[in-house]
Amino acid sequence: MTNRMPVLFIGHGSPMNAIEDNEFSRSWMAVGKALPPPKAILCVSAHWETKGTQVTAMEKPRTIYDFYGFPPELYAMTYPAPGSPELARRVRDLVEADGIAPDLTWGLDHGTWSVLRRLFPEADVPVLQLSLDVNKNAQAHYDLGRQLQPLRDEGVLILGSGNIVHNLRMVVFEGPAYDWALEFDGKVKQWILNDNHEPIIQYDKQGGESELAINSAEHYKPLLVVLGAKEPGEPVSFFAEKVWSGSLSMRSVRIG
Ligand code: ZN
Repeated sequence: MTNRMPVLFIGHGSPMNAIEDNEFSRSWMAVGKALPPPKAILCVSAHWETKGTQVTAMEKPRTIYDFYGFPPELYAMTYPAPGSPELARRVRDLVEADGIAPDLTWGLDHGTWSVLRRLFPEADVPVLQLSLDVNKNAQAHYDLGRQLQPLRDEGVLILGSGNIVHNLRMVVFEGPAYDWALEFDGKVKQWILNDNHEPIIQYDKQGGESELAINSAEHYKPLLVVLGAKEPGEPVSFFAEKVWSGSLSMRSVRIG
């Protein structure tokens, strides 16, 4: 129990958090410093969706610039962390029944590197990405997290990168957060604190505000994998608790 790695969910928001000094990037840095050093990181990013689950298995994952219209500094940034074919094999063995395929073409998208650049600026810890399966529902992503749990005792940091509330169509650059965004974000916080994961998994049955909060689920699903890797009763803390630009919750979670 003592050597069990915490699990993290980071609300990543804008790619600019990789280079901007702001309240979010500062809180990610502080959380990174407080973590026990991981042997490797397995990241589930909102920005990698595939048919069937895949895990990156290359020695040297590339930095992917999967965003448009941002300043040149962001495209000049690299995150040269190594991969780990061995860990990819271990992940595939752990969830054998589901047939996770090895991937040699993806790399590290901005959901992963914009966050890791702050958590582990040295880029010296091996990083793998695990994809979201477009054909799998919320329960299946939660169950996947459950199956990955043993990795925590092997020094692997499981990291989910998305946003609990994510509605780009409703983004406003000034003014307060929408009531529905605050409401859903607060409900999810309370469900996490109560170890009540059922309504989080059944988010599409929670009515009004959840439909606006999750207008497509790819930024939400990494949270389900993270919660699946949680033991009941484990301590939980929150950071970057803010709804930004009206409709993006930056709420981030540390478990353990
Ligand atoms: Zn994103």
